[in-house]
Amino acid sequence: MKIEKKIPTSQPYLKGNELKYVSSCVKNNWISSQGEFISQFENKFAKYCGCKYGVAVSNGTVALHLALVALGLGRGDEVIVPDLTFVATINAVIYTGATPVLVDVDYKTWNINAELLQGAITKRTKVIIPVHLYGLPCKMDEIMKMAKQHHLFVIEDCAEAHGAKYKGKMVGSFSDISCFSFFGNKIMTTGEGGMCLTNNEDLYKKMHILRDHGKTPGKQYLHEVVGFNYRMTNMQAAVGLAQLEKIDRFLKERDKIAKVYERFLSKNPQIFFQAPRPGVRNVTWLFTILVPKSHRNKLIDFLSKKNIDARPMFIPLHQMPPYTKYISPASKFNDSNKLSEEGLSLPTFIGLKANDIKRVADVINEYFNKI
Ligand SMILES: *Cc1c(COP(=O)(O)O)cnc(C)c1O
Repeated sequence: MKIEKKIPTSQPYLKGNELKYVSSCVKNNWISSQGEFISQFENKFAKYCGCKYGVAVSNGTVALHLALVALGLGRGDEVIVPDLTFVATINAVIYTGATPVLVDVDYKTWNINAELLQGAITKRTKVIIPVHLYGLPCKMDEIMKMAKQHHLFVIEDCAEAHGAKYKGKMVGSFSDISCFSFFGNKIMTTGEGGMCLTNNEDLYKKMHILRDHGKTPGKQYLHEVVGFNYRMTNMQAAVGLAQLEKIDRFLKERDKIAKVYERFLSKNPQIFFQAPRPGVRNVTWLFTILVPKSHRNKLIDFLSKKNIDARPMFIPLHQMPPYTKYISPASKFNDSNKLSEEGLSLPTFIGLKANDIKRVADVINEYFNKI
């Protein structure tokens, strides 16, 4: 039997100015966290997202932590997070000593269920963290309205949704602070990296200080708060800047990948997709489908035997040992449980050819024809 070449779930595309910009860091000795690329990347990425200020950091997880600390979160406060997300969202809350409160997602959009969110607000609630999961924006108008009514902060977790729009406005521009990840498998990457965006000058200044050991600006070795070393290096920012130059093309090509998958798979009555809503410009992070739960793991194995790398959807947070203590007795997680048993992500990256997508779809259709 002929073994065809392996198709990974994800890989970065670095064929623009990445090498040129990184080489200039090396040639000029600016390889640490000072240098021209940092502020250029911060300014250009903030502008791209329709925000005033950007603070580049070492990864998306610390972006969330920095945002929470800047908003003054700590013990006794509650933070609402969706049950279905990558663990970084809840871990950042736990680092601050605050208590995460898990809310189920909606089966159609895979995003936090706005009605249940309303019911989870208590006197202790300080922050809501909506996550634009798999590139589909949350209902930001409802969430922001709720936050205003109850005097809550909102932090958007945009790690999977660079460039997405909700009702004509970029995700990341709705909330007090928004957090992005530039990990290697995200829509644009700096290897490891992240950024906090805000329109609030005070929060910007706070995050700037906290990112750099709490150092008072303009004074050497004077630290008036306990800060962190969450800085991004100039080399990472150099890669980020080169990636940002290509973001429109990235988004278009990822949309095209999704369309081709849909064309090949939509005739299959066993397969379902994330349901975009009117007025929303979703982006394709990892193209993810739902199949009957009895087939999900078998299908991943079948794909793997044909040298195609597919991933199961996230495991709901409430199911994992470190987080079971945050489940309130009344909460139910029907939708996140179902999605997590049915979802799988298919190879999605720039450079994936229509032929490769056809090969993946053929294997999936072959699986369902056999059973
Ligand atoms: C990737 C991701 C993060 C964390 O980003 P890192 O850069 O890996 O720390 C946070 N939230 C979500 C939803 C993510 O997908």
